Amino acid sequence: MEIKDHKLQNDLRIQPYSQTECLSKPPEFANEKLPDAIIIHYTAMNKAEDAVNSLMHLKANGKNASAHLVIGKQGQIYQLAPFNYKTWHAGTSFYNGRAGYNNFSIGIEIANLGWLESYDDGKFFSRFDLMQGAHPVKRGPDEVVKKRHKNPHITKEYWDKYTPEQINAVQEICDLLSQRYHIKEILGHDEIAPDRKQDPGPDFPIELIRNEVLYSNREEEKDPDTFEPFTAKVDTAKLNIRSGPGVNDPKIANPLIFGKELTVLEKAGEWYKVKTEIEGWVNAKYVK
Ligand SMILES: [Zn+2]
Repeated sequence: MEIKDHKLQNDLRIQPYSQTECLSKPPEFANEKLPDAIIIHYTAMNKAEDAVNSLMHLKANGKNASAHLVIGKQGQIYQLAPFNYKTWHAGTSFYNGRAGYNNFSIGIEIANLGWLESYDDGKFFSRFDLMQGAHPVKRGPDEVVKKRHKNPHITKEYWDKYTPEQINAVQEICDLLSQRYHIKEILGHDEIAPDRKQDPGPDFPIELIRNEVLYSNREEEKDPDTFEPFTAKVDTAKLNIRSGPGVNDPKIANPLIFGKELTVLEKAGEWYKVKTEIEGWVNAKYVK
């Protein structure tokens, strides 16, 4: 999968492009540094196609909504607007000092019913399906997860499960978007509008994706076997020994003096973890 002309390309999951009418005028984000956020939603509908249809067209009642992407149960990907266009998915929203997330973010809708009511025949129903109206969708117990929402005011307990295909597709897309754009936030709608929104809810692994995409440093995993401890000597008059690998970590003993023998146990950047009478961290350039 790749991004070309602000559109996802080159993957069998991607459905033919069709652009939503629900766009600002002009549709583009205000500047080149945007979008810088991704907002995750559920559709509260069973079928991705229903969500796509409802996000395509301007509504007579003026309650217009759109998003950049809709992800189906099997991981199908529908794109409704290029990523350099604003869509209408966030509504009134506020997070970390910023309001109006439509102006900063890419909206990803995942086909999922959201919270469900349980019934005593062992089946679960959605509270509603926006498209199916009076005919709520049944779910079996293995399609439902019982979890509390991280927002304590949301008391719903049963949630429609996301499929692995959906989670994989969203993670892959977030990864790609963060390589192409200046993405600094991946947030749930329930985080930017907590007083009115529950999506994507407790079954979506947003912390995991956030950590993987935004915070994991992409250097090769350090193989612990590749570092062989060795003996060395202090090569400066006085060498501070600290509790951690940084000048802000507290000193844990009097400085080691010139010629002091030590064993280097481990390396972290410019720092060695060393062992003498005690163990601590020293600046590697003063050890020979
Ligand atoms: Zn939402």
